Amino acid sequence: MKGRIHSIESFGTLDGPGVRMVVFMQGCPLRCKYCHNPDTWQVHGGEETSAEEIMAHFLKNRPFYTNGGITVSGGEPLLQVDFLIELFTLAKREGVHTCIDTSGATFHESERLDRLVELTDLVMLDLKHSDSAAHKELTGADNASILAFADFLAERNVPIWIRHVVVPTITDGEEHLLRLGEMIAKIKTARALDVLPYHTMGKEKYRALGMEYPLEGIPALPKDAAEKAKATILRGYRLAKRKNTQGE
Ligand code: SF4
Repeated sequence: MKGRIHSIESFGTLDGPGVRMVVFMQGCPLRCKYCHNPDTWQVHGGEETSAEEIMAHFLKNRPFYTNGGITVSGGEPLLQVDFLIELFTLAKREGVHTCIDTSGATFHESERLDRLVELTDLVMLDLKHSDSAAHKELTGADNASILAFADFLAERNVPIWIRHVVVPTITDGEEHLLRLGEMIAKIKTARALDVLPYHTMGKEKYRALGMEYPLEGIPALPKDAAEKAKATILRGYRLAKRKNTQGE
């Protein structure tokens, strides 16, 4: 079968451990206001590509991927579960590390998803807002299925790296950051936290697509502010862990 692929980055260093091939899948059900890839949204776009073609591309450059592997990102890769099963089956046959970078927004339990998760070494999960109503305002959907997906992964012992984008005035409030830390503390297989500063590099794409930029007027977040936000999330995390231990 063929998957709809937006683009491939041959040597990615930000989407999982080591040097990786990052496959950006076409199609996304969310409309995050800070999205810098609105060109991945339409499900019927992209180029139809087979799993074999992608694996062949990977294997050609294999010596460069020591300690790395393949990450599927997007768009929302979990819109194309059957294709990912094919791709990851080939990858695991070659002993390649596999990672899914997802918002988890399409989550519902199925045998196919179970199969995919068995073939997945790591999930990078975007937690976009700790408050469900604010999540809906920011992305178009509430966060219930994302949290349910985190539980589903934890039950199956899949390691999770949490990602969070800090946007001035939207996701930089102390209360939200502490609550996010608390939420992460409940995810049993959470292994790492990546806090990303909001940037405005997507603006040009919106202009080129004739779309209004949703966060017009909101400045990029300085790097040190992202580090401070991370410290606050970790404070919330530790407080929750301590509370849990005392409660035991
Ligand atoms: S989930 Fe990712 S690709 Fe989809 S709208 Fe949000 S940021 Fe963009």
